[in-house]
Amino acid sequence: MAVAGTGVFADILDGEVYKYYADGEWRVSGSGKSVAIVNPTTRQTQYRVQACTQEEVNKVMDAAKVAQKAWARTPLWKRAELLHKAAAILKEHKAPIAECLVKEIAKPAKDAISEVVRSGDLVSYTAEEGVRILGEGKLLVSDSFPGNERNKYCLSSKVPLGVVLAIPPFNYPVNLAVSKIGPALIAGNALVLKPPTQGAVAALHMVHCFHLAGFPKGLISCVTGKGSEIGDFLTMHPGVNCISFTGGDTGIAISKKAGMVPLQMELGGKDACIVLEDADLDLVTANIVKGGFSYSGQRCTAVKVVLIMESIADAVVEKVKAKLAKLKVGSPEDDSDITPVVTESSANFIEALVMDAKEKGATFCQEYRREGNLIWPLLLDHVRPDMRIAWEEPFGPVLPVIRINSVEEGIHHCNASNFGLQGCVFTKDINKAIMISDAMETGTVQINSAPARGPDHFPFQGLKDSGIGSQGITNSINMMTKVKSTVINLPSPSYTMG
Ligand code: NAP
Repeated sequence: MAVAGTGVFADILDGEVYKYYADGEWRVSGSGKSVAIVNPTTRQTQYRVQACTQEEVNKVMDAAKVAQKAWARTPLWKRAELLHKAAAILKEHKAPIAECLVKEIAKPAKDAISEVVRSGDLVSYTAEEGVRILGEGKLLVSDSFPGNERNKYCLSSKVPLGVVLAIPPFNYPVNLAVSKIGPALIAGNALVLKPPTQGAVAALHMVHCFHLAGFPKGLISCVTGKGSEIGDFLTMHPGVNCISFTGGDTGIAISKKAGMVPLQMELGGKDACIVLEDADLDLVTANIVKGGFSYSGQRCTAVKVVLIMESIADAVVEKVKAKLAKLKVGSPEDDSDITPVVTESSANFIEALVMDAKEKGATFCQEYRREGNLIWPLLLDHVRPDMRIAWEEPFGPVLPVIRINSVEEGIHHCNASNFGLQGCVFTKDINKAIMISDAMETGTVQINSAPARGPDHFPFQGLKDSGIGSQGITNSINMMTKVKSTVINLPSPSYTMG
């Protein structure tokens, strides 16, 4: 079986340290420094990546600017062809890339493979969608606006923005990178990727698949280093024409500092699951467990608070407890359901939320158990609004249940959150579901299913502190373009067949 950093990927490794990608080449940073990536399961250093310098970032930006000009002149069908090629190479090499996801972010082995395959599919779909939507423009005629004759024809089409900076988070370092790379490239932009530190090596392997596909030099680059060290330099760089970021509160800080460039921000969430009395309780249970605990709760769209009608709460809590007891807790290599959370500081943060809930009297449905970064699944019942876990995103396998006495109470809690990513409602009454969906201040509401980002062509957006703009393949392509018009002025009005 292929192993990370070997075979076709041997080029991307220099001894113990993975190289960064600039001007179509794999390079060693002049900094002489590297950043360690700690395996969440073993808590030992697994990989090392280059700590790129500001000077290297400057060079990458210069090369991207030059490459973008030529790329924008490359026919759309050729851009699509290269993306399809990259998608196929990515899928072909799913095993070594998935291996990195297992070792860097403790993603269960099967889910790691799915992430890579889904990413290949996303790139192909993006190529197809781009060919359609960028192949169309608009013709406007002037006589629809009061006082005008039909003597002006406005031709509008979409043009690239220039250099797009992509910063994905650790939890989907491949998928959330390609969801930015694909749209940027098909639209004629250059792309600079700053992968998350945990997940950087998976991202470097993915970038190598684009390299193997034969994209022009400098069009795609990948600089590594700690976000806290090179992040500001990148996001405030004058060479950047668009920022697409997915992550936590860091995105709010970036939004305040970034210059006059379009921003796509997909940030945190506290997705509420509102359960009504007439809901199918088995469906609710399955979705609470899957939605709240898949990938140990480290998903932006995880169910992060259950708001359940008091009359059915005991029954659902019992059912969820029974299902949680059956989850396999352990290592990602064994394809466990619950695996270690990404870093020790994440585990400490989760623990602090749990201890706060304990002090304030939440009911523990299981005993709290932690070994290293591994936290056993925990359901906290009778959570009240004065507890931190009622509002904060644990990003771990811990789920609070708040019992409610009216639907209004549930909607009120959901809307009092600073976040507004997704939410879900369980009821058999579609009329009620629509009313509740309309009342919830979130970017998406799922009816009778847990929140989810996919399928990847659906619009995906957060309100309030959960984001700016909308993702999803079509929306991302549109966001990474600007409308350009050319107006033909006729010497006298002309009416078709007039
Ligand atoms: P994070 O700490 O905000 O990091 C996200 C990315 O930002 C990483 O690549 C990080 O690099 C980089 N970064 C850190 N400081 C930076 C700076 N000053 N300037 C520029 N970049 C900087 O988030 P995370 O812990 O990776 O991911 C978890 C969060 O992401 C959760 O809040 C989750 O809800 C959210 N999320 C949202 C979505 C969505 O679509 N709405 C999807 C997935 C996750 P380093 O790793 O090197 O620090």
